[in-house]
Amino acid sequence: MPSGRTHDQITLWCLPLVIGITYGLTRSPVITAITTIAYLVGGLMLGPDLDIHSIQYKRWGPIRWIWLPYQIALPHRSRFSHGPLIGTALRVIYLAVWIALLGLISVEILNALWDAQLSSSSLSNTFVYLINHYLTEWFAILIGLEIGAMSHSISDFMSSYFTRKKRRQKKRRH
Ligand SMILES: [Zn+2]
Repeated sequence: MPSGRTHDQITLWCLPLVIGITYGLTRSPVITAITTIAYLVGGLMLGPDLDIHSIQYKRWGPIRWIWLPYQIALPHRSRFSHGPLIGTALRVIYLAVWIALLGLISVEILNALWDAQLSSSSLSNTFVYLINHYLTEWFAILIGLEIGAMSHSISDFMSSYFTRKKRRQKKRRH
């Protein structure tokens, strides 16, 4: 398996390709920037190896514990963390649940401390507004995250393929 460092390098090597292709397809500097940032986040932080104590996991710093239930639930390299689409989809949903939970707790705390008069419905209205008005941008984020995660899974797959091949060749020589 490539180390966390190798995975990081592969993510960075593919960066010009991601920028070039996205800009070529969309001709939009904003969408290109959003996709690129999402790609980096997908490769360096929100990647498949959040299912173990990895460099990606450590990058979450003081809030990395939010990924502990994810690690307990999924065996390393499970289809649900390393599979195409399903891996990213599950992580995005998982993270959204945490954000919603932490958002609700913050609303309660702000209301209790400063009578902020926030409500969970104003929070969800803002969210619905953001989804409706920035659909293309959200889509760019999801695509970027998925490409970032895929650069990881593909290099995992290729490295185990080549290790197996090498092992087979060695056996044949003996
Ligand atoms: Zn992996």
